[in-house]
Amino acid sequence: MTRKYNFSAGPAMLPLEVLEQAKAAMLDWNGSGMSVMEMSHRGKEYMSIAAEAEADLREIMAIPDNYKVLFLQGGASSQFAAIPLNLLRGKDSADYVNTGAWSKKAIAEANRYCSVNVVSSTEDTKFTTVRPYESWDTNPDAAYLHYTPNETIAGVEFPFIPETGDVPLIADMSSSILSRPIDVSKFGMIYAGAQKNIGPAGLTIVIIREDLVGHAMDVCPAMLNYDIHGSNDSMYNTPPTYAWYLAGLVFKWIKEKGGLEGIAEINARKAAKLYDAIDASDFYSNPVDKDCRSKMNVPFILGNSELDGTFLEEAATRGLVTLKGHRSVGGMRASIYNAMPEEGVDTLVEMMTDFEKKYG
Ligand SMILES: *Cc1c(COP(=O)(O)O)cnc(C)c1O
Repeated sequence: MTRKYNFSAGPAMLPLEVLEQAKAAMLDWNGSGMSVMEMSHRGKEYMSIAAEAEADLREIMAIPDNYKVLFLQGGASSQFAAIPLNLLRGKDSADYVNTGAWSKKAIAEANRYCSVNVVSSTEDTKFTTVRPYESWDTNPDAAYLHYTPNETIAGVEFPFIPETGDVPLIADMSSSILSRPIDVSKFGMIYAGAQKNIGPAGLTIVIIREDLVGHAMDVCPAMLNYDIHGSNDSMYNTPPTYAWYLAGLVFKWIKEKGGLEGIAEINARKAAKLYDAIDASDFYSNPVDKDCRSKMNVPFILGNSELDGTFLEEAATRGLVTLKGHRSVGGMRASIYNAMPEEGVDTLVEMMTDFEKKYG
């Protein structure tokens, strides 16, 4: 078996150890005589899997007791609607930061339900920076402030957490959750699609402060209502059982890596190697301001875009795949989430250096 180094932005690589464990239990989980996929979500066995996954997530992220953790379906994109439907709480305006493609989607959806106040937009820079909080045009009476700590497409990451005071802070952490420790108590709500740093697609995690739950608009569909999911332990309907189980295996893998501190150290090293290689060359470039560069998604442009196809071909011969950049940015993008081994980044850097020598 040859595993590739898959730099996809999502669905992304999963840790090999996790896949091996899932493989071993595929036909018979723990003597149950069943695959986890075949279990009733209300049965004793599955309930224990679900509870353990939640407990492990609470432990690794140090989630305070006054936060609910929900295991939902529908992707982060469903949350773009669920957020205004649940969190406007009688107000008619919400603050949004526009730092890229995912912010824009969240804004477009919120616009259906309320008046959106864009407090800061970096579209004029082609989303290559983040402006300081002091320059934002915030509304002290906003229902909440929404932002995207890591913009997956342009590779921009906030170097700070906005201090919004009494206005609840809502974060789309789809591409940066579990990449390093964060202080959950600074947030009203954190949400993430699983397919980047948590597990397989199909699972969405919502971490929400309890006082924000229970105020949904009457028109809010039951399937988007945090109170309904929360009071049913995310089992109002059939949850994404297998994805939830795999996420649980990933949480245990993170614990074995030294928790989020351990993971953060590896991630910082991986990102530094790649950015150092880009900065040291005259052939590769990354347009993002240095203090806002993403540790998870690293876009880079070749000196001659006519070589893009050749680059992708030569990378593939070394087992380096899915490096093509997003069409809105061009060039390449290496997504280096938690499960990308450090050797994958080393191999990429080596390949880039050789390619530059040959063609640069
Ligand atoms: C991938 C991604 C999304 C979309 O997630 P889905 O689960 O596909 O809906 C939203 N926001 C960010 C920041 C992402 O990276």
